[in-house]
This record gives sequence, structure tokens and C-alpha cells, in this order.
Amino acid sequence: MKILIIGEGAREHAISKKLAKSDRVDKIFIAPGNGGTSRENKCVNIPVTDFYELRDFAESEGVGITIVGPEVPLMEGIVDIFHEKGLKIIGPDRKSSLLEGSKAFSKEFMKKYGIKTAAYETFTDFDKALQYVKGHEYPLVIKADGLAQGKGVEIPFTYEDARRILESFMLEGKFKDAGKTVVIEEFITGKEASIISIFDGKSIHPFISAMDHKKIGEGETGLNTGGMGSLCPNPYYSEAVEKDFNENILARTLQGLVAENLIFTGIIFFGVIMNEKGAYLLEYNLRFGDPETQSLMEHLDSDLLTIFEKALDGTLAEGDISFKDGKTLCVVLAAKGYPETYVKNVEVSDLEDEGVSFYLYSSDYRDGKFISKGGRFLSVVAHGKGDEVFDKVYGNIRKIENENVCYRRDIGRV
Ligand code: ATP
Repeated sequence: MKILIIGEGAREHAISKKLAKSDRVDKIFIAPGNGGTSRENKCVNIPVTDFYELRDFAESEGVGITIVGPEVPLMEGIVDIFHEKGLKIIGPDRKSSLLEGSKAFSKEFMKKYGIKTAAYETFTDFDKALQYVKGHEYPLVIKADGLAQGKGVEIPFTYEDARRILESFMLEGKFKDAGKTVVIEEFITGKEASIISIFDGKSIHPFISAMDHKKIGEGETGLNTGGMGSLCPNPYYSEAVEKDFNENILARTLQGLVAENLIFTGIIFFGVIMNEKGAYLLEYNLRFGDPETQSLMEHLDSDLLTIFEKALDGTLAEGDISFKDGKTLCVVLAAKGYPETYVKNVEVSDLEDEGVSFYLYSSDYRDGKFISKGGRFLSVVAHGKGDEVFDKVYGNIRKIENENVCYRRDIGRV
């Protein structure tokens, strides 16, 4: 079978490498792909971004399944465009994509179906929002309604902070229309988990839990990033939390999706926060997470093509998804200075070591070297029975690092 993957990150690199392991996969097109995918067995990068061109390409090449990595094409309706021609694609249609694309929509959905989440109010009027935060206890959480590249959530500790955030979102147009509506919610203390799952239109099948590290600084300090590393399984995701998640988040989500006719074949990524009261749902993403996917693909024992095929047929069963024992760790290397102004065109070479996988972000490959095109650059991933994964990953990073890269030394340990 031929596959088409849309995206250019390490997430798409990891998915393509996992799919390439399947005997039944003949060729994988990645649009646009990166320097890493250009070097992989069975993989071919294609420089196409227009959705109609991609659809025509999939049709003329006889692509069996298309997988969409990033959220923006999903929100912009790529799935509907592929469906018009009866093509198989993993991802939500435009209507369902609102569960990720609008926080006001997703919080209302959570409330309607009794899904355990932080208490909240939605505002479209600045004065009313300001009134609400005036007498409130702090910290609070203020969220831009629409997509803001992971930057649309702020945590004010005082009324002054809250006023400044509301002004920038609602009056000054920091996120254009995406911030004109805001969700203000209760702050919940706890550890976070990413529960990536696959929806076959009838049931939701979770993959293994993952932990992701969003901050640039060790000990979860400093600015937010696209993600600096991940570990699976998540060490804080206990059996009790899992039970609570299954009953009060997953089952109710399924009930809501069916009742609202939000039916699709695709990924549901539950961002949860956990404490002594169990799990609370922070958000839905309707795509694979990065960098969780890099760990997940390495930890997944089952054939990924079979999982996608069965999901598209609506026949996915619990036994179809199995994982290796032990742990999988992913550490992200970024260009020095990231997430602020960073060094351009960072180079690395010699990405060869048994037992470790290297997944590239947006990059070129020239003369035996990978050259970065963005801030995050490389994911280094290893699986192991226990804590030796830390030595495997960090040992390899020490061999390839140079003065132009930065990374966290505490991934999976905080
Ligand atoms: P992402 O970049 O993962 O897509 P996002 O910008 O869509 O995130 P959320 O995941 O809802 O938004 O929130 C981002 C982060 O803000 C969370 O990972 C969490 O650390 C923090 N956060 C969000 N809501 C709350 C809450 N109610 N209480 C405490 N922290 C929260």
C-alpha cells in the first residue's frame, strides 16, 4: 500500500518510520517532509502543500491512507476535501475539528456531557470578562478561544496580570480573532499526562500514557516551547487515575461524540492534569502530539498500518494495540536561543547508533549533514527495560551535540 503523510516535523518522521516497518507498506510520500524523512527507507518527500493538489496526488498515485500530522490543515478542512473523492484519511472533518480549534466549543461539550474538567466561563465582552476576574481568587487560567500555536494560555497571579492579559487578547488582538473570545477557568494543580488515542467512529482506544515537557528550562521553568521531550509510560498515571480517566473523561467523551454526531476516524489526544482527586481534562487535540508521538511510535509493538486500517473500517479492538514493556524516552535538541531568537542553520551529522532513533524536525540534508530550518531540530529516542534509556539517549546526545544546540538534561525525571 502507498501512504501519504502530511507534515514536516519529527512527529511525521516517527510515524513514517514506524509505518515503513510494515511489510504491506510499499511507499510513503511525505508532504513536505524533512531532511530526515528524505533519507528513510520507502519514503519520498513531495513539495506540495495545497490541499486540492494533495488530494489529486493521492488519487492519481493510488494512495491507500493519508495521515495528517499538524492541526492547521485539519481545522482548514483537508479531511472534507479528501472525503469528497472517497479517499481514506486519518483525522476529523471540519465540524469535529472544533473540539480542538475552539476552546469555548470544547468546554461547552465537556460541560454538557459531564466530562471532568476545570470550572470555567466564556466571554466575548471585555468589560464582562474584567468584571469576572475582579473579585476572583488567583491564580486563574485565561485561554484564547482559537488556535494560537500553544501560546494562547496564560496564568495570571493577580488582578493586574489578568487585566493586562485580557487587554492583549481581547482588545489589542494579540492572536487576531482567535483571542477575541476567551475562556477563563479554575487553576488546577497537578502533574500532566498526554493520553493519545484513536477513534474508529464507534469506540475510542487509548495508546499508552505519555509525559511531555513543555518548558525550555530544567525543573519546568522558563518559556513554553513546542515540547522538549517525552517519556512513556507516564510515571504519574496510576491505575486509580486511569480508572477515573476511563469513567469520567473517555466514556463520556464517546457518549458526547455520538450524541452530537461528531463521528470521524482519527486521533483524540486528551491533555489531562492529575492530582489526588483523579484526572481533569484540560483539552482535546485531534492529532498526534509532538514530542509524545516520537516515544509512542518507538514503544508501540503492533503494526501501525493494521491499526489505521481497522480504525477506518470501524473494527479496531483492544488487542490490536499492544506495547513493549519498559520505558521510551525522547529528548529534543533545539537551536541555541530557542524559543526566542535562535541560531540558524545548525548542522549535525553521524546520526547512527544501534538502539537509538533520530527524528528530524524541519531540515535539509546536504553532503552528509542535516541542517536545521527552525527552532526545534532533532528528537533522540530510545526504548529500554528501565533507567538505561536515560544513558542511551543522553550518551548519544553527547556524541553529536555542539555549541549551537540546547536541550534539557532532566527529561523524564521531573
Ligand atoms: P497545547 O500547546 O498543548 O495545544 P494549548 O495552548 O492548546 O496547549 P492547553 O493545553 O489547554 O492549551 O493549556 C496549555 C497548558 O496550560 C497546559 O499544558 C497546562 O500546563 C496549563 N493549563 C491549562 N489549563 C489549566 C488549568 N485549568 N489549570 C492549570 N494549568 C492549566
